[in-house]
Amino acid sequence: MKPNTIARSLRALALSAAFAASVLSCVSIAEAGSGIAAASGVITTDQAASITKVAGAVEKTFEDITPEQEYYIGRSVGAQVLTTARPYDNAAASRYVNLLGQSLALFSTRPETFGGYHFLVLESDAINAFAAPGGLVFVTRGMLRLCSTEHEVAAVLAHEIAHVQFQHGLKAIKTDRLTSALATIGTEAAKTLGPAELKEVTAQFEGSISDITRTLVNSGYSRDTEYEADKGALAILRSAGYNPAALLSMLTVMKTRLKPGAPDFAKTHPDPQLRIDRIQRQLGTLTPVVENPQAKARRTRALAGI
Ligand SMILES: [Zn+2]
Repeated sequence: MKPNTIARSLRALALSAAFAASVLSCVSIAEAGSGIAAASGVITTDQAASITKVAGAVEKTFEDITPEQEYYIGRSVGAQVLTTARPYDNAAASRYVNLLGQSLALFSTRPETFGGYHFLVLESDAINAFAAPGGLVFVTRGMLRLCSTEHEVAAVLAHEIAHVQFQHGLKAIKTDRLTSALATIGTEAAKTLGPAELKEVTAQFEGSISDITRTLVNSGYSRDTEYEADKGALAILRSAGYNPAALLSMLTVMKTRLKPGAPDFAKTHPDPQLRIDRIQRQLGTLTPVVENPQAKARRTRALAGI
């Protein structure tokens, strides 16, 4: 192709790209552009592939994470959590929390995840609960001790399930890190990476895991994220036949027990009163939380030693 023909076709391409910008994503423009340029011999096919890849990387968000990747990320977060926390060795409590949690998850907007929902009681007196991506939910003995009805246990778990359903954990990964990790992992290029490059990718991926763990355990989500999880929890509780007002009674108890500055729920969640005010507005008239005798028997049997 003659140089002026190339210039003309590139100009035409730039023009059509400008018009297309409002309706197409950068990825598709880059794909189309690099495809045409490669076909016209301006760049090699390898260069075209790399332009497409780089443009694609710019667009990477947590939404590009596949359910399988979410599962592996969540599992690594869980493993990192367990380097500092010990599981509570009590089969009855574990069975109860899993049965209740998995039943509640069925009423969420994300009843199924790649690896399923799993609930683990942690051997800790701290008042805490958090969820890793994909459905690994942790709740401490200290938190379960505060629950005086099954509705309240359900309220705690439903709030964590809502974090999973909205993929809040994945959103905690810093975008630049996600971009570089996802751009390389799962691409054809990853198959030919040398040991040094592979190490770099692994480090980037580890960075994502640390971002999530740090958010869950230390810094917490934003207030709006927590309010969204509360709203999701109310919907789950209602659909599953639990009294959503239990989230309020739970927060009221927590308000009196949480100490500001403690390394627990107080550190990672907004002031319970702020959440109470909002939930009250969303619920309107409240019906008292009453635990039926079967639920009470079930809960006290399972959580007797809590
Ligand atoms: Zn939360």
